[in-house]
Amino acid sequence: MFKRVLIANRGEIALRIIRACRELSIEAVCVYSTADREAPYLRLADRAICIGAAPAKESYINIARIIAAAEIADADAIHPGYGFLAERADFSQVCRDCKIEFIGPTPEAMGKLGDKIACKQTAKAARVPTFPGSDGAVTEEEEAVEVAGKIGYPVIIKAAAGGGGRGMRVCRTEASLRMNLRAASQEAQAAFGDGSVFIEKFLEHARHVEVQVLGDKHGHAIHLYERDCSMQRRHQKVIEEAPGPDIERRKRDAVCEAAARLVKAANYHGAATVEFLMDEKQNFYMLEVNTRVQVEHPVTELITGIDIVKATIRVAAGERLPWKQSDIHVRGHAMECRINAEDPEHGFRPSPGRIAVFEPPGGPGVRMDTHAVAGYTVPPNYDSMIGKLIVHADDRGQCIDRMARALAEFRVEPIKTTIPLHQRLMQDAGFRAGGVDIHYLERLLK
Ligand code: ADP
Repeated sequence: MFKRVLIANRGEIALRIIRACRELSIEAVCVYSTADREAPYLRLADRAICIGAAPAKESYINIARIIAAAEIADADAIHPGYGFLAERADFSQVCRDCKIEFIGPTPEAMGKLGDKIACKQTAKAARVPTFPGSDGAVTEEEEAVEVAGKIGYPVIIKAAAGGGGRGMRVCRTEASLRMNLRAASQEAQAAFGDGSVFIEKFLEHARHVEVQVLGDKHGHAIHLYERDCSMQRRHQKVIEEAPGPDIERRKRDAVCEAAARLVKAANYHGAATVEFLMDEKQNFYMLEVNTRVQVEHPVTELITGIDIVKATIRVAAGERLPWKQSDIHVRGHAMECRINAEDPEHGFRPSPGRIAVFEPPGGPGVRMDTHAVAGYTVPPNYDSMIGKLIVHADDRGQCIDRMARALAEFRVEPIKTTIPLHQRLMQDAGFRAGGVDIHYLERLLK
């Protein structure tokens, strides 16, 4: 096992990884930018090293500075968390070259699954259902029009290197496809440094269902069942839950097995999430694979009892996954509300600043993953998520009631947060009925 792990991230996920390290008797080294200098979670680390100024380019995604910090601290591994450098194959390669273990997949496995176009090809070879669309990148307008003609409108143009819900354009007519193709590619080039775009069928009433998978370095992979993340705003998840409401047993087993097969085919180790859209007939189509631990991993931890972050550290150190697929059982229902420092009353504009009152909820079945405390100042420089409220109960109805109860206890002042939005959603008849589609929230907010 590792002696010392460097955490190349910040906020709640840095704290989550510190906690996993503690329980495994591993020393945790944090890095921080000057904007996070006063962050209270840094005190829980064995050591904290300043790596630069607030802009991520000068700190959290600056590979040279992260590696320098790992060498100064004499860390034998780096945990990237999610976001920042987590899905960068070049970073995984630099870690390998510096003989520091990257807690995540190899650059080769990332190459097979991380890029959306390569991933679709790997999926096809592993008999995992993908969307009808272009087989690779499309560069010529005529080619795009031909593909769209075959699969039928509406179609969606997506960036191969896209992420965070950015770089997507829905086209309902040939004229709009012609108009958007070049702009989408230019936008992708500017945002992700890669202008490759592809086309796929746009599903109107889909649900977002994803499968959590774990693999080890000995060729073994299992799935930890699915999560439903259909409650989204601007293609960004707002609420996640597990298991997915009302998914047929047979279809669910098939998609979960397909996800595990895909990860095995890529010789993948670590945590991965295979994302699918599910249509009204519960047919699944793979969207992409996230080659890292995800924000919403706790809902799966609560229904399976497996500590996913500890598992990522263990398999990186070469341990075998101690579970067979038949050891994994789902118990009850879990749900996560992302608490963002945003004002839902005013177009979700960011609301950073000092938190004077912070009273998180507690009691049975409540888990709070947050780095915020009273007196903490939310910096304006990063993602607005200040924490995740996760609850577990025997079934979905009780889970929603428990979430409503926990949200009512939660006080954060004076900054604005998404707590009132979540409170409204817990009372919403459509959400309570289960199985809302990915555009439900946008319609509700109109
Ligand atoms: P990102 O990597 O930016 O998160 P994804 O490919 O995971 O992009 O897609 C994010 C979200 O965009 C999905 O959860 C879904 O809401 C929407 N989306 C993506 N592809 C399609 C599609 N073909 N049809 C309908 N909605 C889509």
